[in-house]
Amino acid sequence: MQRDFREVIPVQTGTQSIDLRVYEGRAAAVGGVGKDPVNGPMIRHWCEAMGHPVPVDGSAPAAMLQVWTMGGLSGHTGMGRSAAYEELLGKLDAAGCTSVVATDCEQEYVRPLRPGERITFDAVIESVSGSKTTKLGTGHFVTTRMEVRAEGGELVGTHRFRILKYAPAQGKAPKQTARPRRPRPVVNRDNAGYWEGIRERRLLIQRCAGCGALRLPWLPGCDGCGSADWDTVRAGGDGVVFSYVVMHHPPFPAFDPPYAVALVELAEGVRVLGDVVGVPYDKVRIGMPVRLEFLDADDELTVPVFRGEG
Ligand code: ZN
Repeated sequence: MQRDFREVIPVQTGTQSIDLRVYEGRAAAVGGVGKDPVNGPMIRHWCEAMGHPVPVDGSAPAAMLQVWTMGGLSGHTGMGRSAAYEELLGKLDAAGCTSVVATDCEQEYVRPLRPGERITFDAVIESVSGSKTTKLGTGHFVTTRMEVRAEGGELVGTHRFRILKYAPAQGKAPKQTARPRRPRPVVNRDNAGYWEGIRERRLLIQRCAGCGALRLPWLPGCDGCGSADWDTVRAGGDGVVFSYVVMHHPPFPAFDPPYAVALVELAEGVRVLGDVVGVPYDKVRIGMPVRLEFLDADDELTVPVFRGEG
């Protein structure tokens, strides 16, 4: 998500107006040390909880990155939020933005961690948005970026975390005049090719160059054999509804509930999520044959959808 930070971001705190951009670039957390070294039991527990294969080489799955930075119920000692971050949150509280919700997280992985390694981490306040009004209320998005390092200072990954500090909406939100657009997909280095394919009206499945396994959604490497090499195959477009939900609530402004969203098993054997079209929402059934189509939601967004035989 790109936002324009050049605008001035004043917040009214009593009689005083402040500019929240002064916090950008300042530390959010300093001197964090992993509570436990990277270790096999935690890797196994995480893999069991997440339904993730235990990596054959014993290394920690990359997606465990944040786990090694967590303090558990007893917390961390000698490390915490920086004074600048506390001050920023305090000013937002004082301006009435007393509620908080985590909105999204992005991670980048440089290399896997291995048992015995102990990590350190620091975080910086990357950005503070201008005033934004959401369904929840009006407030500011605060994005922090944590760098996780191995002993000796080698960067192993980054963890970007965004919260909305907001003043809860009083009663009904103001009426929208234009229909809001659908949410944008989070496109990153690892899945950019998938969304490029969708724009070209091709649903591309990753194929591991090591073992040939097909995978969707796209991942940086193979869960089965560990290979980071891959190519793609184009989905033929036939599938069946493997499972589905009918969305009633909460009503997202870009959609008209009720509507059915299916987890479709493609003929190639991998599964993908998409709206079911052409069939009333209450006629969708598990096992129903569907056919891939592409929906141009607006000028910038194309999404895969599945047409049932209605
Ligand atoms: Zn493989």
